[in-house]
Amino acid sequence: MSTSRTRLFCIIGDPVEHSVSPEIFTRAFSARGMDAAYLAFRVPSERLGEAIMGLKAIGFAGCNVTIPHKLRVMDHLDWIDETARVAGAVNVVKAEGGRLSGYNTDMKGALLALEGVQLNGKRIAIVGYGGAARSVAFAISSSYRPKEVVITGRKLEPAESLARCLSRVIESRAVPLEDLAELEPDVIVNATPLGMCPDMERAPVDPRVLRNGMTVFDLVYNPMETKLLKLARGAGCRTVGGIEMLVGQAAAAFEIWTGEPAPVSEMREAAKEALGAKRAK
Ligand code: NAP
Repeated sequence: MSTSRTRLFCIIGDPVEHSVSPEIFTRAFSARGMDAAYLAFRVPSERLGEAIMGLKAIGFAGCNVTIPHKLRVMDHLDWIDETARVAGAVNVVKAEGGRLSGYNTDMKGALLALEGVQLNGKRIAIVGYGGAARSVAFAISSSYRPKEVVITGRKLEPAESLARCLSRVIESRAVPLEDLAELEPDVIVNATPLGMCPDMERAPVDPRVLRNGMTVFDLVYNPMETKLLKLARGAGCRTVGGIEMLVGQAAAAFEIWTGEPAPVSEMREAAKEALGAKRAK
């Protein structure tokens, strides 16, 4: 039961109906016996500033930020963590003493998802050049020494722009999607929504790109088993699903907000159940 002492958290985005963060965090707070509640609010872009001021005025303890607000939310914060500056995006806000601080836990989530995958000395291809691609690319570049990070997608110019930013810290270039097969990457990351529910029969790369021994990391987590992951497994690739990053970024947010270790396995279970329930609808 919520009382006047209950700590309040939420996610803001547009759309937000697809989010399973309420289920993940509600389970986490309950697992740790915390008096906290988590809600989801659809906030249109033109009302972002008002929404942030409202959360501050009401005394929310923190919020997650999702599409399309991860960049613009930075204009409304008092302080931004170095990782979030590097990623150029904030997905977690913490309120403390009347001040709002911004963090990026997508980078940590990506690194947790890729734990155990050999990245040093490898050629990593990222399909997509949006916020998530940027987070994954900078997370890998700040923690490993890959041979190179190749950015690709349906347009070359934005891929080149991200590759230029990355090349300040790591070997990086952009290539047209059609050239991916001949590059023979060791790791492929899908950072586009291709394959996401309800358009689940789509895959971001030609199946001929997939080879035995490659690692394929799909950021899409709904469905948990995407078309790309099925094709990759069939081709003998190691696969990593988006749910691992989803749970990893949520666990890191929990720790920022509460200062306590996150109940990761309970959070993963809640995510799986919630995604299964959403699919069944
Ligand atoms: P974003 O900033 O909007 O970027 C989307 C990227 O996908 C852009 O490069 C875009 O290229 C490309 N794209 C979109 N539709 C496409 C299509 N039909 N064909 C080819 N490319 C297409 O979004 P984001 O925040 O980076 O998110 C990307 C995906 O990652 C989403 O599915 C999101 O759910 C997922 N994600 C997962 C996690 C996790 O924890 N697992 C975390 C963050 C994001 P154009 O500009 O050319 O459209």
